[in-house]
Amino acid sequence: MRLLMVEDEEKLAQLVKRALVAERFSVDVAHDGREGLELATSYDYDLIVLDLLLPHMDGGEILRRVRRRNPKVPVLILTARDAVADKVAHFEAGADDYLTKPFAMAELVVRVKALLRRGTVRQESVLRVADLELDRLSQQVRRGGKRIELTLKEYGLLEYLMANADRVLSRDMIIGHVWDQSFTGATNIVDVYVRHLRGKIADTDQRLIRTVRGVGYVIAAEESA
Ligand code: CA
Repeated sequence: MRLLMVEDEEKLAQLVKRALVAERFSVDVAHDGREGLELATSYDYDLIVLDLLLPHMDGGEILRRVRRRNPKVPVLILTARDAVADKVAHFEAGADDYLTKPFAMAELVVRVKALLRRGTVRQESVLRVADLELDRLSQQVRRGGKRIELTLKEYGLLEYLMANADRVLSRDMIIGHVWDQSFTGATNIVDVYVRHLRGKIADTDQRLIRTVRGVGYVIAAEESA
């Protein structure tokens, strides 16, 4: 899943990014309001972590503009302000949750996960397609009960496919959700990772990940007509 964090304190931004990447999220970081708004309105993020006091444009304004375009994306506000009136104002403007600085990184991670579970995408903690199982809490993947070790990107790719089982995903959609803004390569990187993934999940006899020629990939338990 791909997250955006808009935070002008670079050290804090890096700490949060590290904590979220360790949870296997792809994370884009914007260090000012203008960049934050641009990214927030250019990509289809799964969640946005938004600081309020930012150079160029404050978080409240970003939130209002994001909400006009996308009423559904979960937004977690980060701020040093703790006045009740501020909190109410931002919930009214469409924030989903609120965390006052300083906060414990573990709490931020828990809140992000909780918001994503409530979101529009399939958020069960265990995803299953035939005998393939992905546990989002323990981040373990098994096929036929046998544990499979995946790299960060392989896991991200498999989770995205499984969360959208039976739905054909284009290479661009996959890159948009699994890679972050630092990725500038060609979309055939997806083919390379799908190949690795098929090898690791022994996707030969009963093939789950299918290539849809000219479009992309789909994971499904049964062959569709
Ligand atoms: Ca700030």
